[in-house]
Amino acid sequence: MIWSVSTAKIFEQCQRKWFFKTQFSNSNPKTRDLERRRAYLLGKLQSISAWRGNVVDQILSKQVLPAFERGWSISEHKAIAAAMSLFDKQLEIGRLHRLHEAGFNPSDDADFVAFYDLEYKGLLAEQEVERARDEVKRALSAFFSMDDLIERLRTANRLITQRSLSFAHADASVRAVPDVLVFKGSSAPTIIDWKVHVFGWRDAWLQLAVYATALAHCEPHKDFPVPTNQFRETDIELLEVQLLRGTIRTHNLAEEHFHRADAFIARTAESMTLALDGMNGKAWSLPRTDFPVTRYAGACQSCPYRSICWEITS
Ligand code: SF4
Repeated sequence: MIWSVSTAKIFEQCQRKWFFKTQFSNSNPKTRDLERRRAYLLGKLQSISAWRGNVVDQILSKQVLPAFERGWSISEHKAIAAAMSLFDKQLEIGRLHRLHEAGFNPSDDADFVAFYDLEYKGLLAEQEVERARDEVKRALSAFFSMDDLIERLRTANRLITQRSLSFAHADASVRAVPDVLVFKGSSAPTIIDWKVHVFGWRDAWLQLAVYATALAHCEPHKDFPVPTNQFRETDIELLEVQLLRGTIRTHNLAEEHFHRADAFIARTAESMTLALDGMNGKAWSLPRTDFPVTRYAGACQSCPYRSICWEITS
């Protein structure tokens, strides 16, 4: 079973949502099981606010940081222009809402976006779209105003963005995808996590602790300038960059934090394994009603699987 912080958080919020996302969805366009295909398509739905964070991530990881690494110049103006172009392109695709068109396959278009509000409310709140546009600009402006961070990124030996790291934890395979790994000389690397939230996420430390554990425990990748398994989790610098506030928070985690993160992985992975009832690999065939609905009243209001869930909930 593949474990990640985000799937563990979903499991804790709603087991049925976790089942739809991690076990039941089938991305194969040729599958004859239309309900499983439907779950996969619904899983593509996202809020405007999550999408605008993705636009910022994409510009930083695919344009700004690669330019820094190659020693090319890239101005704030150019980055924002690229972001606006991506924003408008994806918005146009999202407005078409082709999700349920026969023969349509989201994975054929790297810029495919589907909006939750179009699926469930039939419209996009234009004020929210414009706020998202402003926040993308604000986040990138804030990034370019962080001189010390930019200097560190420009002078690094290697910047690796969105790299999937994994390590074994009992029967689970823990997967972590840090936003940026910064390597400089023979020092322990730094992990950067971009946050595009108005309010901070109180569990950011947990996510960063899992990232650091994954980096220290995974098989070092061929393109890592130094073997990362020579470092301990506590050696790795952890930065949470709040792009809408223009602030950087250094998480100085102690052994105790890593023990707590380890206990969280163990507890949630065991609960997930029990929920799968020994059917790992074929758990999609379990009755959907075996997975309890959420106890949190507000969770369904933003859940992409609402339609298939409510059809089976009496
Ligand atoms: S609609 Fe509610 S109960 Fe159903 S899967 Fe989503 S969050 Fe869970």
